[in-house]
Amino acid sequence: MNCPFCRHDDSRVIDSRPTEEGTAIRRRRECTQCGSRFSTQETSILAIIKRSGATEPFSRDKVINGVRKACQGRPVNDDDLALLAQRVEETLRATGQAEIEAQEVGLAILAPLRELDEVAYLRYASVYRNFSSLDDFEGEIALLRAAPSVQQDNSPLKNSLQNI
Ligand SMILES: [Zn+2]
Repeated sequence: MNCPFCRHDDSRVIDSRPTEEGTAIRRRRECTQCGSRFSTQETSILAIIKRSGATEPFSRDKVINGVRKACQGRPVNDDDLALLAQRVEETLRATGQAEIEAQEVGLAILAPLRELDEVAYLRYASVYRNFSSLDDFEGEIALLRAAPSVQQDNSPLKNSLQNI
């Protein structure tokens, strides 16, 4: 790859080590032309198997776009969404699989989204799990109440239900 400072196409590796989680290799490089140092990171490509059977590389942007709608009007900002997408990727990489069903990506989104915002979680879950009746919502809300997440005290769900 080209040097990010002078665009020269050759560099030498001066250090190479796995990241803490062992899911990537980080290399420290030195440009053979201008002598600048920079780092590169090598990760395995995480392939997502779509319903059609075609595969595409995992994309954090797609995760963010997938949950953005559910977060409309909720106190969730872009940093929250970026962190959520990062957690989803870490969860998927931690499975050690090179190829992952699109369905599993949806599942991996549920837990961090619930921690982020319970209303957004309910909206997302209702689409993702094909809620078809009020009973489905009631069941899910009962589950949320039975096993409150960490942010239980200022639960937006509880607050919004109190306003009904
Ligand atoms: Zn250079």
